[in-house]
Amino acid sequence: MARSDWLLKKRRSLPDPEYRGRFAPSPTGPLHFGSLVAAVGSYLDAKHHLGTWLVRMEDLDTPRCVAGAADDILRTLDTFGLRSDEPVIYQSHRTAAYEETLQRLKDRQAVYPCCCTRKEIADSALNGIEGFVYAGTCRNGMAHQREIPAWRVRTNNETTGFDDVLQGYISQNLETELGDFVVKRADGLFAYQLAVVADDSFQNITHIVRGADLLASTPRQIHLQRLLCLPTPHYMHLPVVVNEVGEKLSKQTLAAPVDVSQPVATLLRVLDFLQQQPPAELASSDVGTVLDWAMQNWDATRLRGIATLPAA
Ligand code: GLU
Repeated sequence: MARSDWLLKKRRSLPDPEYRGRFAPSPTGPLHFGSLVAAVGSYLDAKHHLGTWLVRMEDLDTPRCVAGAADDILRTLDTFGLRSDEPVIYQSHRTAAYEETLQRLKDRQAVYPCCCTRKEIADSALNGIEGFVYAGTCRNGMAHQREIPAWRVRTNNETTGFDDVLQGYISQNLETELGDFVVKRADGLFAYQLAVVADDSFQNITHIVRGADLLASTPRQIHLQRLLCLPTPHYMHLPVVVNEVGEKLSKQTLAAPVDVSQPVATLLRVLDFLQQQPPAELASSDVGTVLDWAMQNWDATRLRGIATLPAA
């Protein structure tokens, strides 16, 4: 169907076209197949719903960022026809906003300073779903002074859960499974969990589509949203791309940069991975035609219940 006809039809059928999605890469290296899947999946879901799609650079953890990687990622996205509908924001420019978010948590007494060293935590902690469960040593005051403390958010002994569009109901007991978690590190850097909640709210994100490797982070983000009286977006966690030995593609597993020399073929591989079954004749078309077909025919339900998949 011609794009304009599809848009007209779609506009009439949508009760609420307000959809704001985003892709939020960390510029720690070039885009690999796994991150391109998240970019394409979030883009198609947004565009299928006539929504706005944003790119946000998560260059918060400055020591891990690689010079030139952010520009390289933006160039790669551009090759695949994926362009942010609004100017790209950079977390490294948003420290004042994170400080303000931390202040709001302090005002509510939802956070406390923590002086524990890694070793002290390891000595008193049980293993949880993501390393040690912090035993709450500094909850009622720091055991000893530390020039610059870390800040931890209080968790509670309740179930924090949400309905993921693809992965079903996900829940955690944050206190027993993770413990009070860090929102600002002792080295002064804000934690991903705080920054992502502040930014998703600042950008009025209504739908988050990202890899299922972030499923376990979502209850922490919902906990922060509740403490800050912020709305919780809809969540859709796409299958994580794994290599032949079942490891997530990442810089650590030496995932190869995305092949930009043949964008149509690469894009079709992404659509195969996302179970969209693109017609074979698209192979001789261009990126714009492939994206048009994919946004019109996007059917996320084909990925229901799939948490990992090998690269197509
Ligand atoms: N920056 C995170 C990553 O690259 C993604 C954050 C998110 O989508 O919430 O893993």
